[in-house]
Amino acid sequence: MVDNPARVEGILQLAAQARERSSSRVEFTSNPEADALLTDLQHHPHAFVLGCLMSRQVRAEKAWLLPWAFRERLGSFEIAALARLTEPEVLHHMMHPTPLHRLPMAGVFRDGVQRIVSIYGGDASRMWSGSPPSAAIVRRFLEFRGAGPKIASMAANLLVSLLGVPVSDRYSIDISPDRHIRRVFSRLGFVPDDADDDLIIYRARELSPEYPGAFDLLLWEVGRETCRPGNPRCTACALAEQCPRDHAT
Ligand code: SF4
Repeated sequence: MVDNPARVEGILQLAAQARERSSSRVEFTSNPEADALLTDLQHHPHAFVLGCLMSRQVRAEKAWLLPWAFRERLGSFEIAALARLTEPEVLHHMMHPTPLHRLPMAGVFRDGVQRIVSIYGGDASRMWSGSPPSAAIVRRFLEFRGAGPKIASMAANLLVSLLGVPVSDRYSIDISPDRHIRRVFSRLGFVPDDADDDLIIYRARELSPEYPGAFDLLLWEVGRETCRPGNPRCTACALAEQCPRDHAT
């Protein structure tokens, strides 16, 4: 497949504009209190880390709501209060009166808290302080139980692109191929419809080697709003000019 550099550049420019828009009003959920906790990197940086660790096999919003919902039940989200909980106590708060997650995540949650205390002295922002290379942030997330490459790269991308964390490079922030990003990336003609995660990740690295995850937010927004699975609304799409599809709909 031969790429048109001007088309790729146009998409990357739109992606940069989408990040710029979102960084001025970060919305992980429809709950302002939950968002305030997640984005409070100064006083509660562990809330963001634990929210990322919960991002498995549930809708994104449900995972992002979990730190706030847990705080409502415990009465605190201070790291010292979390560190005092045994795993059965974490499980109790996760499950009662209703489950906060469809998977048994109490162990992941408690191990995450213990790692933040033992390795980072209770201050999770040490994972990204001092303008580190992006690979260091990704690697530090990977060291948590329950965090694979997808979660680690997503976490680094959110910190850098939406929450303003400075880094010395963005080379190791990969695209995070969720269902929306996968669908739009394919409809843009960059990969076949049945491409697996590895193919999507390497294609994004090929197209945007200095920051492969640059595509994420724009493609996720387009996938959620206009490029729906059954009936894409191409005439209303931000990517209409760059997309090789028939825009007759
Ligand atoms: S122009 Fe249509 S097919 Fe292409 S990304 Fe937009 S909605 Fe999807």
